[in-house]
Amino acid sequence: MQIIFHVDNIEEYLQNGKNYNFPSSPDRCPHSDCKCRVKLKKHGFYHRYYLDGAVCIKITIRRYICPVCKKTISYLPDFCLPHFQYSFNMIVSSLKKTLIRTKTLSSIISDFKRNFPHILFSRQHVYFYTKRIINNLSFIIYGLRQIDPYIKIPTTGTERERAREILDVINIVPLFSQRFYDYCQKSFLASLT
Ligand SMILES: [Zn+2]
Repeated sequence: MQIIFHVDNIEEYLQNGKNYNFPSSPDRCPHSDCKCRVKLKKHGFYHRYYLDGAVCIKITIRRYICPVCKKTISYLPDFCLPHFQYSFNMIVSSLKKTLIRTKTLSSIISDFKRNFPHILFSRQHVYFYTKRIINNLSFIIYGLRQIDPYIKIPTTGTERERAREILDVINIVPLFSQRFYDYCQKSFLASLT
């Protein structure tokens, strides 16, 4: 599970690496099937790369483990999120195409490979995200309702149809507010991890 946290000073984060003052470990396991009131333990670090324009930067990610369920959480700095913008748009657009099913999956994937030749995007990714968004529909709707209780959200139709309409809502969001969009993006991404 990834938890997004805010970093005020990106330079400081990049320079300090493992010595950065990371958020302290949660007092309760955030995994829904555990939720034990127990202090999570430090569980090392890992590295990930993030693209800042054309520059690829290696960053250190702090990881914690729940001593009860043994599942880990990691703290992802929010400055990594612009990097997701690209993949987020790509995921949303691929999901919509998959859910509409006007094209075969193979042709959707070859479209992507043509448009985004540097991005690894496979049939498995499409299945994974489609399944995730359908399984997490109520969570995503909950998030949207927190921001705008009057937002028009489909309540009828099959899960596939509702998922497609939700994606439309998420796509319209940037027209209204950046903050709203950021929130949707974060909750959407959180629902995928
Ligand atoms: Zn746990």
